Amino acid sequence: MLAPYAVRVEQSRGRRVPEPPHPYRDAFQRDRDRVIHSRAFRRLEAKTQVFTRRYSDHFRNRLTHTIEVAQISRTIAAALALNVDLVEALALVHDIGHPPFGHAGEKALDAAMKAEGESFDHNLHALHIVEHFEQRYAAFPGLNLTFEVREGIVKHSRDYPREQFPELAEYLLDQRPPLEAQLIDLTDEIAYDTADLDDGYEARLLTLDEICGGVPLFDRLYRGMDSRYPGASPKLKFNEALKRVMDHLVTDLITATRDRIAAARIDSLDDVRAHPARLASFSPEVDAERKQTKQFLYGNLYLSKALEPEKRMAEEIVTQLFEHWMRRPSDLPRSYQNRKEPLAHVIRDYIAGMTDPFILEQHARFCGPRGAAG
Ligand code: MG
Repeated sequence: MLAPYAVRVEQSRGRRVPEPPHPYRDAFQRDRDRVIHSRAFRRLEAKTQVFTRRYSDHFRNRLTHTIEVAQISRTIAAALALNVDLVEALALVHDIGHPPFGHAGEKALDAAMKAEGESFDHNLHALHIVEHFEQRYAAFPGLNLTFEVREGIVKHSRDYPREQFPELAEYLLDQRPPLEAQLIDLTDEIAYDTADLDDGYEARLLTLDEICGGVPLFDRLYRGMDSRYPGASPKLKFNEALKRVMDHLVTDLITATRDRIAAARIDSLDDVRAHPARLASFSPEVDAERKQTKQFLYGNLYLSKALEPEKRMAEEIVTQLFEHWMRRPSDLPRSYQNRKEPLAHVIRDYIAGMTDPFILEQHARFCGPRGAAG
C-alpha cells in the first residue's frame, strides 16, 4: 500500500523510447535491474570509496557502499510507504558517475576540465552514462530509463538552478523531487558516516577515545554498551554502539519526515513537488548530531595526514593522464578517437569510467613510473 504522496509506477512519465510492458516486472523494477546489469555498476567494485586496498580488503568500496545505501533506503521507504522499487533503483544508481580514487579523483578531474573551461559533476555524469554511454540495447542508446529515475539521478542531492542548466529543463528544476529521490542524499550520508567510523576504527586511523571525544552521539551509545556488555571486547561494543547510531539516524529520519509531511498537509505527489522545501529531513536535534559526526570525520579522517599520500597520488595520476591524452589523442582507444565531441569530453568520459586498477595501469603505460612523468 503506497502513501498518497508516493510515486506510482502506473503514473510514470515513461521512457524516451516507449517499450512494451514486461509480463511480471514493472517499469521501476526493470530500471533497477538495468542499473544492476550495466558496466558502470559493475565497475563500482574496483573504485575507492574512502580507503584504498592498502588498508584492508574488507573495507567498503563504492559497490558495497552502494548496496548499503540501497538497504537503508529500502527500509526507510517501506516505513514511509513510498515506492521501494524506485528508491532502490535510485540508490543503486546514485554513485555510478564517480571517477576512480574517491573524492580526490573527482576533484582532479574537475580541475582538469576547468582548465578546458568546463567542469565535472558526478550527478550529471551519471545521467550522461545512463542516457548515452551504456551501450546494451539494439533499439536505443543508454538504458532508456524512466523519467522518474533520470530525474532522481539529477536532483537527489542538490538543486540545479534553471537559468544555469537549460539542458536540464525537462527535469522540472523549479519543483522539488519526489520523496523517493529526496531520501537518497540522506541515506547516503547515514551509510557513509557510520561506515567511515567503522572502517576508520578498523584501520586504526581513529581510536575509540577520539571517536567518543568527537562524536557525542556515539559516546552516549557506547557507554550504554559498556554497562550492558561489560565483558565484551571493545570491538564488539563498538559494533553494538555503531549499529545503534545507524538505527538512531534512520528512525529519526523516518519520524521527522513523517511529521513534516503531516505538518505541511501533503496529500499527493504534486504537493511534494510544489512544497517550497524538501520534506525528507532529520529533526533539528539529530541533524545537529549528524553534522557533528560529519565534522569529526572531515577533521580526523578525510583530511587526515594518513590519507594524504593516496590523495596526492590520485590527483597526480588523473591530471597527468588527462594532459597526456589532450596532447596525444592518438593514444586513446580507437572507439574514443572516433567520437565526434570535444576532446576534453571524450577524455573525461574515458577517465570517469575507469576503475582504480585500470587507471593505474594506463598511467604506468603512458606516463611511465610514477614521479618520472612530466
Ligand atoms: Mg554515495
